[in-house]
Amino acid sequence: MFSSDRISLTGSKSHLALVRPPGVGAPRLEQVRKPVALPGDFVCRTLIAGVCGTDLQILRGVRDDPARILGHEGVAIVEEVAAKADQRWLGATIAVNPTPDWGSAELGHTLDGMMQQRFLVPARLRSLVVSPPAELAADLAILAEPLASVLTCGSILKRVAEPIRVLAVGRGTIGQLLRIALKTACASVRDVVVTGTKETSGIEDETFDTVILCSSRQDVAAALSIGFDALCDGGTLHLFGGLPSEYRDPRLPGVNLSEVRARNTGGRVGRSLTEQCQTTIGHKRVSITGHRGSSNAMLTQAMIELSARPDTYRPLLTIVTDPEEAVRTLREAVGDPPVRPWTKLGIDLRRWRT
Ligand SMILES: [Zn+2]
Repeated sequence: MFSSDRISLTGSKSHLALVRPPGVGAPRLEQVRKPVALPGDFVCRTLIAGVCGTDLQILRGVRDDPARILGHEGVAIVEEVAAKADQRWLGATIAVNPTPDWGSAELGHTLDGMMQQRFLVPARLRSLVVSPPAELAADLAILAEPLASVLTCGSILKRVAEPIRVLAVGRGTIGQLLRIALKTACASVRDVVVTGTKETSGIEDETFDTVILCSSRQDVAAALSIGFDALCDGGTLHLFGGLPSEYRDPRLPGVNLSEVRARNTGGRVGRSLTEQCQTTIGHKRVSITGHRGSSNAMLTQAMIELSARPDTYRPLLTIVTDPEEAVRTLREAVGDPPVRPWTKLGIDLRRWRT
């Protein structure tokens, strides 16, 4: 009934997408039906979509997010709207904040995401649409969501304590972004050391007032071990990522770590920012805090920061390539054994060979 009202910049009915196989494995390129905009919805054309550690965990079956098509980082152009009042959006560049403050992540998690030529922003998620600054290059836009999360981490830490020496456990994009940008968000920070969960050499004799966990889900116990060793008595443990749901650790008795992290979601800050605990090994007092995602305002701030210092951030984009090459790269990354000589992968959906 709305078809005659729909205002579209394109007439095509299908498009190419990176579609997950049922179960576990890398996505395949498939032709899928183009979504249809109902009043309040946007149909958007993806420019570049980023691949992050969470996406790889979904592809490997470590997480059970149901979206058939992943992708929650990137930029797109609004190509079709159904409501007359939305016509002004046609042709606008947008990003979508994947983490609403009212629940769990949606775009690219529960809903089909940006790893396709066109995707739907349903009306109920319109409040998560963000307009990037005109100067922001499309490739750098895939770092906006992780950078916003790093800035959010800094804003929480400075409310909890005055962090000076920080250890980030996890060598992925988040670890690298913490090294570059945490001081921007939290002025007391003097030092950010990044380590992986399979290496401790170099930090055994060092102590840190703050430890940030940003490794992958399967490494959480190892990451916590490194954190407990490195943290000083009375220090802060920030849960950034890589926690299974309802996760508890026997060394932190009585604490539901996932719940502490979820208190601060999508930029909303919970009534109690931290949980106090004493470790059973070493008997250190620890303030535990954490967060998931960011506010729209922080996403915008991250985009402004990326536009202002492109040369600082662009080296983090290990591969930005066309969808065919991206599919091959993902097949290697989720293969057995996994081959992943990259940190950040960008899929340029403007570059189809077929
Ligand atoms: Zn992500």
